[in-house]
Order: sequence, then structure tokens, then C-alpha cells
Amino acid sequence: MTALPLVFDAPRRGMPPRHLADLTREEARAAVTELGQPAFRADQLARHFYRGVTDPAQMTDVPADARETLAEALLPGLLTVVRHQTADDGRTRKTLWRLHDGALVESVLMRYPGRATVCISSQAGCGMACPFCATGQQGLTRNLSAAEIIGQAVAAAAAMANGDIQGGPGRLSNVVFMGMGEPLANYARVRKTLDALLAPAPHGLGLSQRAVTVSTVGLVPAIRRLTDEGRNVTLAVSLHAPDDELRDTLVPINTRWKVGEVIDAADAYARKTGRRYSVEYALIRDVNDQPFRADLLGKLLAGKLAHVNLIPLNPTPGSKWDASPLPAQREFVARLRAAGVATTVRDTRGQDIDGACGQLAAADSVSVPAVALPVPAVEEPVELGAEGDE
Ligand code: SAH
Repeated sequence: MTALPLVFDAPRRGMPPRHLADLTREEARAAVTELGQPAFRADQLARHFYRGVTDPAQMTDVPADARETLAEALLPGLLTVVRHQTADDGRTRKTLWRLHDGALVESVLMRYPGRATVCISSQAGCGMACPFCATGQQGLTRNLSAAEIIGQAVAAAAAMANGDIQGGPGRLSNVVFMGMGEPLANYARVRKTLDALLAPAPHGLGLSQRAVTVSTVGLVPAIRRLTDEGRNVTLAVSLHAPDDELRDTLVPINTRWKVGEVIDAADAYARKTGRRYSVEYALIRDVNDQPFRADLLGKLLAGKLAHVNLIPLNPTPGSKWDASPLPAQREFVARLRAAGVATTVRDTRGQDIDGACGQLAAADSVSVPAVALPVPAVEEPVELGAEGDE
């Protein structure tokens, strides 16, 4: 196992109580048995959880005298809504969640004709420090548990099923790890989340692999591990520059894993899964939007199983940077396409509620209550994917 640089050493303080969604099916069955109940009740609890049922009184297939005990032990409420904000005629809804220790994270549900996508957070804050990203400016508070990540998707699925989003009852079809945090820096819990998103009921949300996208700054060992573990979800790589000199400044982890290494790892992922990866590229005026950089990017990706997703920069408060003007965007697209690289410009939902890509910065939007956190004397380094990272 590769030892990881300090940037991955997420504080463990504040991790939430045990939840059914953190456990394997066998562990859940054992936990239920320990509480004096037949093991099959674990499946009943799972069905309720993934359907978004939170009130034990509604779990009518579980005997009344066991509901509270089971729910308390295995379905603790981990996510509390602080507020919802809607935009785009009620088709985009951003939710600010408070976790049990007072940490705040956001998720964004976006409904389109024929699909509904939720953008979820994998960490409170982020340690990757990309200077154009609002979350990157906060630093890392902590990793989310699997249940805290899964809970955001479950809440979105329930909101769709209940008709809480403009357009009537519907189905959550897509999940993207493009909220707060670097998912591959919280590998073990994100992998558990992938299992839950893909597993059919009662043990998951039954989404299809291609409908789930993991977006990363390019943590090469973790991309390789994901490749080996065969989850076959869609991979998105946040490149933002085709050359190391500029990428070192825009995505600081590039000083550890270079553009070439990241693209090699993504190519290996594409070969293994047979699935095209996305290259995310925020177009920043006069920083990375020059025609010569479009040509460099075209050269880098020509002939590869890749697709470029250009995102006009969403300026964050206090940022010196701005989105590229339309003519520069068009020129960039034209040059990539001329190089034979499939390219789209992302539609930016929820900009007016600071819900667009890179704008999630929960700690800035409300005052965080003062909570006494049990701070361990020594922070244990978290090794990527080590068993201790469960
Ligand atoms: N840490 C992961 C996922 C979270 S960010 C990653 O970096 O991929 C999701 C996407 O939004 C990333 O591509 C990120 O680079 C991009 N992004 C961040 N800030 C942005 C901004 N201000 N404008 C546009 N895109 C931004």
C-alpha cells in the first residue's frame, strides 16, 4: 500500500454512530441478532432505509415493540435538513445538511426531462485546495461515513418518489460525486457507497453503473484501485489544464501525480470498463482558455476513450477569476472538436443559489453552532483504502 502524503490525513473526530448502511449484509444480520431479533429484520430495515422511511412507526412489518430499539441501534438519523433552496422553476434543489457533530455539507438535486441527478458530498470540506473552488478554500473538516454519503442519495430518491420536486413524482436516475470533497480521498467509504447505489432493493438504490459518476482531482493509486475493483461506474477527471506547469497551480495535487500519469490511469480505467471517461475543464478567462491550450488538450486526448466536459467557471466569492467569454469558449470547443475529441459545455444549474459546480461552501452560508468535539490527542494518519479506513 502506497503511503500517502499529509493531504489525505483526514481528522477522524466527529465520525457518526454506527448505521446499517455502513455494514455489510452479514454484519447487519449479526447486529440484529445481537439485539435479540431474527436476522431477516436486517433486510426489513434496509428496505425502509433505502425507501427513505425514517419514522419507526411506519415500519409496520417490524413488531411494534422492536421498532424503536432496532431503529435507534441501526438507523440513527445522521442528516438533518438545515434548509432547502430551489432554483430553475423548482427543478433544482440544494439542501444544506447538518451532521451529528455540527459539520455542514450540501447536496444538489437537479431534474431534467427524462432524468434526475443528485450531486452528493463525500467529505465535509476538502483537502485538495484547488484555488478556484469554494470548497477547496475551506480545507478538510472530515470524511463522511458511508451512511452519511448514501443518506444524501436516499433523501434525493425519496424526494423524487414523493413528488417534492417540480414535475410530479419521478425516479432518481443519476448520482454524481461532484459535491463537497474528494471522493477518492475517502476511498473505502465511497466504495461502500457505490455498492449501495448499485445494489438492487432492499440493499440499495438499484442505479445503473453508467448513471453513477465519480469525479476526482486525479489520485492515481485510487483510480488504479477502482479499476481493479471493477465497479464500472463513470469516471470523471478534473483536469483543468493540459500542461503540468499550469495544472500544478490550479489542481495542487498535480505536484504529486502529473497530467500524464492521471491520463494513463484514466485510460487504463477506460480499457478495463470499456467506458468513456470525462475530462472536466473549468474555463477560466485568460488562465486556461487560450487557443494553444485547447490544441494541447486536443493532442493529449485525441484517439482516447475520453469526452471533454467544459464548465464555464462559476466565480466564487472573492475570486480574482472569471468565466471565459463566449467567443473564447466557442473557439476552445471548435479546436477540441477539430482534434477529434468529443466535447460538450456543461449546463450550469442552480447558479443563483450557489449550487453550481465548485460553489458548495456550506460553512460560509450559515453560522456553525459551537459544538464541543472530542479531539483525539493524536490524529491517526488515514491510509488510502487501508482496512483501518472503514
Ligand atoms: N473533488 C472532486 C469532486 C468535486 S468538484 C473533483 O475535483 O473532481 C466537481 C467538479 O467541479 C470538479 O471538476 C471541479 O474541478 C469543478 N469545480 C470546482 N470549482 C469550480 C468552479 N468554481 N467553477 C466550475 N467548476 C468548478
